[in-house]
Amino acid sequence: MVVVMKPGSTQKQIDHIIERIEQLGLRSHVIVGTERTVIAALGEKRDGAKQALETGEGVEKVVPILAPYKMASTEVKKEPSQVEALGLKVGRGRLGVIAGPCSVESRDQILEIAQIVREAGAAGLRGGAFKPRTSPYSFQGMKEKGLQLLAEARAQTGLAVVTEVMAPEHVPLVSKYADVLQVGARNMQNYPLLEAVGEAGKPVLLKRGPSATMDEFLLAAEYILKTGNTCVMLCERGIRTFEDHTRFTLPLATVPYLQQTTHLPVVVDPSHGTGKASLVATMARAAVAAGADGLIVEVHPDPEKALSDGFQALTPAAFRQMMAECRKVSEALGITMTVGK
Ligand code: PEP
Ligand code: MN
Repeated sequence: MVVVMKPGSTQKQIDHIIERIEQLGLRSHVIVGTERTVIAALGEKRDGAKQALETGEGVEKVVPILAPYKMASTEVKKEPSQVEALGLKVGRGRLGVIAGPCSVESRDQILEIAQIVREAGAAGLRGGAFKPRTSPYSFQGMKEKGLQLLAEARAQTGLAVVTEVMAPEHVPLVSKYADVLQVGARNMQNYPLLEAVGEAGKPVLLKRGPSATMDEFLLAAEYILKTGNTCVMLCERGIRTFEDHTRFTLPLATVPYLQQTTHLPVVVDPSHGTGKASLVATMARAAVAAGADGLIVEVHPDPEKALSDGFQALTPAAFRQMMAECRKVSEALGITMTVGK
């Protein structure tokens, strides 16, 4: 449930309610809004808890949260949230673009592409160092060396590093180098991993599982939010359908749907969502038009030579063109694209 405080309630009254919530065996989470403070009381439903809190001084009302995802829901927080990492700002009227190769492959490759995407206006640099590959015989990533190269690219460009972490035991290592921890589609329901990234306290980019429903997606986000880490971006990266002309099917209705049901920013990945370089820019534009708060796009200096996902990677020239087109769409909508330093 949510305890809605009266406008102008005092800190003492708020502290008292927090104490009462905890005495009832529930967890409290305070959300300070522009007009009033609300306090979420989370945990197993308790008889009499609603009545006990309703009588508190400064309390306007106590409302049950109907959505199964409590912390992610607009029932708890109406205003959209913004996630920030270095110059990358995603949400609340800011469109953040994260770009880079599928995998970090070499020093030259990542440093070159980082400069290119920064100059084209990206604010985040993507690149996998730990790669979840369908085949165990495919390139698995450069691991810690790849993370070090990403950190070097950040030092040269100021871009925020967005990189995947695949296992709870890797979270401390990846957190040492990353600005945003990416949880991949295959790991969306790896609950110990979600808790571990939440506890790391870094912003998280959570990708939708290819067969996950919206409720499953939001409940996965809830595992992260429950740790107290509220910096979560939801990423639509395409789902599996009967259709096979694209690698996955990219449902853009996800964007307005999530924005109506949650306050978390929504990022779209048109690269995995289509699996075809020739379709990426158009779907990126469409995502911006649909109101996406961010884009994550694969770009490679020489896609033909890429060690993973080259078929869906944009060339530097195609990426520049995509950015120019997305900028026009965002300007028409009054959205500001955040630009890398
Ligand atoms: C990726 O971003 O390179 C990736 C593996 O994405 P996903 O988890 O969406 O398949
Ligand atoms: Mn990829």
